[in-house]
Amino acid sequence: MRASSWTRRMRTCLWIVMCIACASAAPARDRGTDGQFSERRSRHFLLLQDVDIDDYTGVDGSRKFERDVLAVLEHAYDQVRDVLGIAPDASVRVVVYDAGVYDREFSGLFGFRSAGFWDGAIHVRAGVRVDARLVGTLHHEYVHAALEALGGRGRFPAWLNEGLAEYFERPFGFRGLASGEVGQLRRQVAAGAWIPLEALSGTGFARLGGHSAALAYLQAFAIVDLLVRLGGEQSLERLCERVARSGDVRRSIKRTYRRDLEDLEAELIASLG
Ligand SMILES: [Zn+2]
Repeated sequence: MRASSWTRRMRTCLWIVMCIACASAAPARDRGTDGQFSERRSRHFLLLQDVDIDDYTGVDGSRKFERDVLAVLEHAYDQVRDVLGIAPDASVRVVVYDAGVYDREFSGLFGFRSAGFWDGAIHVRAGVRVDARLVGTLHHEYVHAALEALGGRGRFPAWLNEGLAEYFERPFGFRGLASGEVGQLRRQVAAGAWIPLEALSGTGFARLGGHSAALAYLQAFAIVDLLVRLGGEQSLERLCERVARSGDVRRSIKRTYRRDLEDLEAELIASLG
């Protein structure tokens, strides 16, 4: 899932425009069988969109929204295939909800305000346009879909699953930790608030409260950022293959980076200064 931390990063409008220009959505549009969702396909995705979105975008606006969402998702597919070597054969189902409907239906699922989640389908809270926030959410949730396609449900510990999702939220240009994030992590360590990675090794962060969840996502991202600094992006593909095959994260880390998990965590903390 993805916590709602809209201000954490900004993406360029250029990237969004580029995605939209590459749209490959199929032209057909059908009403869902329950009359509440419209349906649209692209090469790797099936999009179901809450028709209430028509109320404020108009049908033409809604169609544009669908095309734009699918273009972003296809770009996410390409990025994950190129970096992690994961290319699911089956179409990934994506449900886009009117923001009010999303909040009403799903606000009780998490201890923090969410923007989207994966539960076998990608569910996202829509806005009136495909903005930077929604682009980030779509990239994030697609990583969960791809990892599950590779290894099955629950195969990846939350810190790695969420850390990779956070990493791919940054689809354009520099993906490393921002200086403000390094400072935030440093303060977290100084305050004794660092969450041990072992405690982030369950299947998700859903039970964490808002503040803890934000820290957990940042820590998870920081570990993946360290993995990239140690072994390059290409090491992530080897790591994911090993975790998916064996289910043994410690051994996979050791084989890929010649370090124990505890050593990686200590190295990250030391690198914060
Ligand atoms: Zn997530």
